[in-house]
Amino acid sequence: MLNILNQPKAELHIHLEGSLEPEMMLHLAKRNNLTLKYSSIDAIRNAYHFNNLQEFLDLYYQGMSVLKTEQDYFDLTYAYLTKAQQDHVTHAEMFMDPQAHLSRGIALNTIFDGITCAITQARQEYGIQASLIVCFLRHLSENDALKTFDQLMPFRHQFIGIGLDSSEQGNPPSKFKNLFDRARAEKLKLVAHAGEEGATDYVWEALDILGVDRIDHGNVISTDKALIQRVVADKIALTMCPLSNRSLQVAKDLRQHPAMLLLNKGVRVTINSDDPAYFGGYVNQNYQALAEALSLTAQDLEKLIHMSLAAKFV
Ligand SMILES: [Zn+2]
Repeated sequence: MLNILNQPKAELHIHLEGSLEPEMMLHLAKRNNLTLKYSSIDAIRNAYHFNNLQEFLDLYYQGMSVLKTEQDYFDLTYAYLTKAQQDHVTHAEMFMDPQAHLSRGIALNTIFDGITCAITQARQEYGIQASLIVCFLRHLSENDALKTFDQLMPFRHQFIGIGLDSSEQGNPPSKFKNLFDRARAEKLKLVAHAGEEGATDYVWEALDILGVDRIDHGNVISTDKALIQRVVADKIALTMCPLSNRSLQVAKDLRQHPAMLLLNKGVRVTINSDDPAYFGGYVNQNYQALAEALSLTAQDLEKLIHMSLAAKFV
């Protein structure tokens, strides 16, 4: 049955910084003469035990501090696209957090040049179509986001949309209304992480106040009948990430994961890897883990794969 996973598919929720494997983290630290808190791959992997989103984010920001040069961003992106291609991903819409790099003094052209060059090379070599969605860090102010948005405008042609990530609790989507209004005026696609750890109001706000085209995660939607009806009626896709949910204890046991419940109610559910280097698997491993936990049929898997292609922007 698992050879169904050899079918072409899209991945729509993958943070490039979250695809930084421990091996590359050590390699880039050495190349850039940086001292890491960890001296070995095992030491890094041993740190990957999280009780919640915040514990992961603290490590995630430390990890990406090894990214300095255009070559680093190229290597990171090319490594992810190589893995994605091995999982038969034909379309990848990848997240990147500009503020997390700008705050370390990295110039936007360093980042975009490296990533865009890797996208071009992967398209030529693998035929994979990859695009970029820039995400804003919701634990920072909207003013910071707006300032960053201005800085991003010269690179407008290098990304297709904006998103909202980082610490969800206490940072509701409504905090970023003006940012999303500006992005909409620029004809950018709009997505936001919502309902991963946050309550249903966060998903309502993402839909009603930000006007998002897709919801990233959205696990909590399964608890609200009206919200299920809303995302079905508006054909809002959810980019769900089973291994991330298990790792961050959003769904401690994948047998309780709401993906199939939502899919069977007509929601456009897609399966993705989120931060594969940190959560133990790339996209096909996410399908596999879910298939095992929920005893999915071949038809279920085909439907999920079909949804991923139907929900892509490009
Ligand atoms: Zn995410």
